Amino acid sequence: MEKKTYPAWVAGRPVEAGDTLEVTHPYDGRVIGTAVVPSAADVEAAIAAAHAARHETATLPAHARAAALDHVSRRLTERAEELARLVTGENGKPLKWARVEVSRAISTFRWAAEEARRWSGELQRLDTDPAATGRLAVVRRVPRGPVLGIAPFNFPLNLVAHKVAPALAAGAPIVIKPAPATPLSALVLGEILAETDLPAGSWSVLPVPNDRAAELVHDPRLPVVSFTGSVPVGWSIRDAVPRKHVTLELGGNAAVVVCADYASDADLDWAATRIATFAMYQAGQSCISVQRVYADRTVYDALAERVVAKVKALRTGDPWDDATEVGPLISEDAAARVERWVSEALDAGAKLLTGGQRDGTTYAPTVLADVPEDAKVSCEEVFGPVMTLAAVDSVDEAFERVNASRYGLQAGIFTRDLQVAFRAHRDLEVGGVVIGDVPSYRADQMPYGGVKESGVGREGVRYAMEDLTYERVLVLTGL
Ligand code: NAD
Repeated sequence: MEKKTYPAWVAGRPVEAGDTLEVTHPYDGRVIGTAVVPSAADVEAAIAAAHAARHETATLPAHARAAALDHVSRRLTERAEELARLVTGENGKPLKWARVEVSRAISTFRWAAEEARRWSGELQRLDTDPAATGRLAVVRRVPRGPVLGIAPFNFPLNLVAHKVAPALAAGAPIVIKPAPATPLSALVLGEILAETDLPAGSWSVLPVPNDRAAELVHDPRLPVVSFTGSVPVGWSIRDAVPRKHVTLELGGNAAVVVCADYASDADLDWAATRIATFAMYQAGQSCISVQRVYADRTVYDALAERVVAKVKALRTGDPWDDATEVGPLISEDAAARVERWVSEALDAGAKLLTGGQRDGTTYAPTVLADVPEDAKVSCEEVFGPVMTLAAVDSVDEAFERVNASRYGLQAGIFTRDLQVAFRAHRDLEVGGVVIGDVPSYRADQMPYGGVKESGVGREGVRYAMEDLTYERVLVLTGL
């Protein structure tokens, strides 16, 4: 992979000189590229330009928004392999998963182009009340203002796409702050955005370190903050700027329920394959990776045996190898924390079914049983390749344990019983319920987000556009 210096982007223009940030590969620590860190004057210029461009961006014709977003989608397609390699380089996820991420970013921009064409207001009759005879309301959605998008390291391209694409589709300028560990694919997205006819001030990509994020968060010219990242940082931002519109897409400890009716060999094989794969993919560094599994006691042993066999079969190691399923964690600190949490659980009486070893940044896929509910690997977000298995006696008990969490992103229920499916949808305190699969399923157009400490607000292109805008009504009289 060519080792380059990637410019920052301030109001649509490259910043080629300044301080730099070396980006290292989590698997072996080698430097894979360098990002230019914008100066304080660059940050000020980006914010001022976003503020100045707000009317021009909001009034861009739909065809121009859609054309720009289609262009991005097309160019991401043309540069897909280069971007997948960059994502693997900076994040360490296996190349096959990086390719999936790039293809999702391509769809995110394509959806945004389609939504930009459809995006419209509504006409509302007011004359249902005799006193309002002759009155009509026209409702249009107006951007709340320039958006500060803050993105995490675990999907360095597609979660940036989930900020940029809906903002531009809805007519809001956006300033993106990628994660310091993984800024490079966002900076390449900047190269592609620079090829469009979007107003220069409508977008910036600023790879500033965390200790300089506060100036962006507090600036009143960025009245909307769309944050994806960890629970403590997310809520601290919301507390720091209570008057801003803050959307939080945070973490969780997603649960799976395997019901008694999911008992045939084929069903258990499917459930075990999906559970093993999506507890461990990206080394567990997904906000909806499978963390807690509650299986009905009648299927527990058969499921556990299959899950453990499938986890043992996952190839761990070099993310560049096409056969690798589980790569490194983002840093040695992250891997050491996971190691510590697993030892604490074992000390508290948990049983190790497989895994439990660390080698630098790589942690072996680990399955635990008999884990006390208050062990961190159960009640906190592990964000590592670790899952817990528990037997339950009823669907009610399983749902209670799913809901006992402080978090609520998504849940996966393996059942063929329609009643149970509807009950799960009605009763589980989460943003999404997936029937017949793991909670890790996400299509980029569906509403996505959490409840409880997992966040507030929704993404998924159209839902993010709604979140970034407000209704402004026009009342017409005498019609
Ligand atoms: P993080 O909270 O450490 O960082 C996220 C972003 O916030 C980064 O860009 C970081 O630089 C920035 N940041 C850190 N401190 C800041 C501060 N004080 N002010 C402003 N910005 C600050 O999270 P991470 O480790 O990059 O990502 C992992 C977390 O993200 C996990 O908890 C995961 O569950 C969550 N996540 C959630 C979703 C979702 O859609 N719900 C998706 C992916 C990841």
